Amino acid sequence: MNTIDWDSLREFIGIRSLQGLADENARATEFICTRLRAAGFDCRIEGRAQTDQPAIVAHRAALQSNKKIALYGHYDVAAVHPRMAWRSASPFAPEIIDGRVYARGIADNKGTLFVRMQAIAEMAEAHAPMPEILWLIQGEEEILHGARVAKQIFADELARFDCDVALEETGFNDIESGEPIAFVWSKNARHPQLERYRNLMQEMRIERVEFRTLKKLNGVTECPLLSNLSHRHVYLGFGPNDILHQIHRENESLDVRRLVGHKANFSEFMRRYAL
Ligand SMILES: [Zn+2]
Repeated sequence: MNTIDWDSLREFIGIRSLQGLADENARATEFICTRLRAAGFDCRIEGRAQTDQPAIVAHRAALQSNKKIALYGHYDVAAVHPRMAWRSASPFAPEIIDGRVYARGIADNKGTLFVRMQAIAEMAEAHAPMPEILWLIQGEEEILHGARVAKQIFADELARFDCDVALEETGFNDIESGEPIAFVWSKNARHPQLERYRNLMQEMRIERVEFRTLKKLNGVTECPLLSNLSHRHVYLGFGPNDILHQIHRENESLDVRRLVGHKANFSEFMRRYAL
């Protein structure tokens, strides 16, 4: 449970899932769906007629649980400009330097998405209790213009799935104090379950819980998860990011221990949530 499949992560990061590279985006969706299907998911690619960065809708039945959860992520990465100077030899070949792993997409969002997929695969193999999962993965988080096909697709899927909780693509850590920060939020500030999920985060030793969402480059209205949450949903976020992550810029990176730790934290969360 405490190891990352670095070879596969390297392969995933090596796929240049950038705007305009249709074949690379097709490889990225294939990479994800192959792994999710092996872990017991039904996996559909949606929106292909409108974009070459389509969305993925994956569903997995519960195991020894009557809970449901929606997970969110994205496989596209921010552009890399030729003038950007990287510490690593290539932005598409992850390299560990001074305890951080450098690569385009490692912090936003492929690193976290990958370790979550690996965690679920290991839990499935171990027949661990698991909630019913709707995994919504888009491919247009980083586009600057135009509507994201995932907005309508995810609206329909969330309405049909009828769950109470949605998990954000990542979370944050305070670099000064070293404290992990969890987001526990709802459109309904008086949601009766907020306290319960705050407690769940604290059981996972994330003491600092903030009533807010992850900051989004294009705002809440463009995020196909946040824009589609209703008063019934509780939104949760935790993950390996910190202020040094340099997302969208050169030298995007994550602390290796936090990325490895996130895999264990995510598994623990899913296990506790399933109860
Ligand atoms: Zn992102």
